[in-house]
Amino acid sequence: MKGVIKSIDSYPGVKVVEGCIQVDSGWKGHSPGQFAFVTSKSIEGAHPYTIASAWNPDERSLSFVIKELGDWTGQLQQWLKVGMSVSVEGPYGCFDFSGRQPRQIWIGAGIGITPFIASMKYLAQAPGRRKLIYSIPPRIMMRKPSKN
Ligand SMILES: Cc1cc2nc3c(=O)[nH]c(=O)nc-3n(C[C@H](O)[C@H](O)[C@H](O)COP(=O)(O)OP(=O)(O)OC[C@H]3O[C@@H](n4cnc5c(N)ncnc54)[C@H](O)[C@@H]3O)c2cc1C
Repeated sequence: MKGVIKSIDSYPGVKVVEGCIQVDSGWKGHSPGQFAFVTSKSIEGAHPYTIASAWNPDERSLSFVIKELGDWTGQLQQWLKVGMSVSVEGPYGCFDFSGRQPRQIWIGAGIGITPFIASMKYLAQAPGRRKLIYSIPPRIMMRKPSKN
């Protein structure tokens, strides 16, 4: 299905790019924790990314938070442009946080945080208790030494 990139934000300190895609009426919604295959350059083909946003039928947008890890993801900052057409296939996956326990503790690390971002956004729309533990590598927490 077709989509159009409506915003791009980059976080160079953690080598992450966040893209928000407006999808057409073919997208029937998704559950937090699911992923989609996204293609923005046909010769490169589709790559899987977790949908890092909760579904809102009024907004019809999907967010993806992508770490620059390899050949393709390392080029995304330069390649992606607002207004660019992309194709999105999905949603897929069953990591949807359903379970019989009334309370859950989630532990995320690195770019593996993306399903939890989607679920926190989803739960923000409903009352209830939740706790998220996110581990940050020590080098990100360290301050740059001052020059003087
Ligand atoms: C269900 C699912 C959901 C995902 N969700 C997300 C998400 O939300 N956000 C996200 O950022 N990513 C996510 N990913 C991962 C993402 O799909 C990949 O990081 C991306 O497709 C890699 O493409 P690439 O061409 O940039 O990397 P590649 O060049 O294919 O490299 C992939 C990895 O292998 C390593 N590598 C490559 N070549 C070698 C080698 N010769 N020796 C050792 N290591 C090597 C690279 O450093 C990199 O870590 C998800 C993957 C799946 C399956």
